[in-house]
Amino acid sequence: MASPSIRFLGAAGTVTGSRFLVEYGSSQVLLEAGLFQGPREWRQRNWDDLPLPAAELDAVVISHAHLDHCGYLPRLWRQGYRGPIYLTPDTANLAEIVLRDSAHLQEEDAKYARKKGYSRHAHPEPLYDSDDAEGAISLFRPVNFSHWQELPEGGRVRFLPAGHILGAALVDLDLPGAKILHSGDLGQGEHPLLVGPHVIPALKYDAILTESTYGTRVHPPADDSLDQIVSQTISRGGTVLIPAFAVDRTEVILAALTESMDAGQIPRVPIYVDSPMAIRALTVYRHAIDSDHTEIRPEIRDHLKATDVFNPGTLETLPTPEDSKSINDAPPCIIISASGMATGGRVLHHLKRLLPDEKNTVVLAGFQAAGTRGAALRDGAGEVRIHGRDIPVRATIEEVEYFSVHADRDDVRAWLHSAEVPPRRIVLIHGEDDAREDLAGLLGQEFQVPVVSPGYDETLPL
Ligand SMILES: [Zn+2]
Repeated sequence: MASPSIRFLGAAGTVTGSRFLVEYGSSQVLLEAGLFQGPREWRQRNWDDLPLPAAELDAVVISHAHLDHCGYLPRLWRQGYRGPIYLTPDTANLAEIVLRDSAHLQEEDAKYARKKGYSRHAHPEPLYDSDDAEGAISLFRPVNFSHWQELPEGGRVRFLPAGHILGAALVDLDLPGAKILHSGDLGQGEHPLLVGPHVIPALKYDAILTESTYGTRVHPPADDSLDQIVSQTISRGGTVLIPAFAVDRTEVILAALTESMDAGQIPRVPIYVDSPMAIRALTVYRHAIDSDHTEIRPEIRDHLKATDVFNPGTLETLPTPEDSKSINDAPPCIIISASGMATGGRVLHHLKRLLPDEKNTVVLAGFQAAGTRGAALRDGAGEVRIHGRDIPVRATIEEVEYFSVHADRDDVRAWLHSAEVPPRRIVLIHGEDDAREDLAGLLGQEFQVPVVSPGYDETLPL
């Protein structure tokens, strides 16, 4: 029998498309089923079938609800996968929202391509549709943190808190002939709602897979720049617009604003959350915080209450498009709306309205990929095109960098240092090649174990 191995079908030399085929005995487990995002040549890979028939997979394991970790699941259903999908309960709750939204966007894209006739195909098809998303969701088998779930041939898997977003997990695979620990995406330990990543269990791992998104970069320390931006904008009669990713980022920003308002550091103005998906995700977060913390959700910080942590008394959610329009003439306020890179969603209609007035401020609070409106604003564009019109940019544009929920170099090092037993090797995933190379050199010296940076479709025997 061949020794266990990991085949890297994504997130190797790129930040997105997390997919790792773990083979042992005659079993095949897909660790992560993420979408490739970003440049076209990467996105094209979303259309490739797996190198084996999906129906032959024995199980799928997902670390958390971000699209680059779970967004390929409906495509797996479309390829005939009908086995279990193991994930934590809150990852299941959030992934439902994320996959339905993703299917809807895929359908819209295909419809648009058909109408415009720009696709190379006569009948552009969506990557997957809503039925595929519902199919994938029907395969979810939630597993509580720390509980061992059996896999075929005596293998087993458990989840430990990763502190990245709600439900996010380290994945601990105990297989006949190999122990693998996968970091998923690691939190920083500074998340306002979640504790930092769980320590590495004292086991002899054949491989620890760790994310290297930020390579050797170090985040700037948290500061009060958001408070200053809000105070200045409100005092000159302007409105603060924050394009934000619907899942987690909205919650982190709400928690920061609430704390500052309660401490009297910023004026107590209305805060609007204007994104149907963000409102759904907020409901999941509220429920998680208000229910049993310690047993089911060990990752949530003690003593939080959803009513206090997300709402300084001025929060209003805007579920319908009419609600959204109702704030067009609102006095100075703070609006949090998706999408986070201003590529679509209701934030566009607020940008159209707010960008031309110099009183207002747009706060970019997350990663802005090249080619997006968010990146154009960050880079100082004098106008941006929205719904076929060129909108002049007179509002102030600010970037607040500390809202990252990814580990930087020192967070990754600190997490690896939590291992009492050195692993046989460290495997760097989820990083661009330059970032990985720098980090590999550093970690190799520091930990005195081999550090591997596998390429796309490479197989690593264990
Ligand atoms: Zn993530």
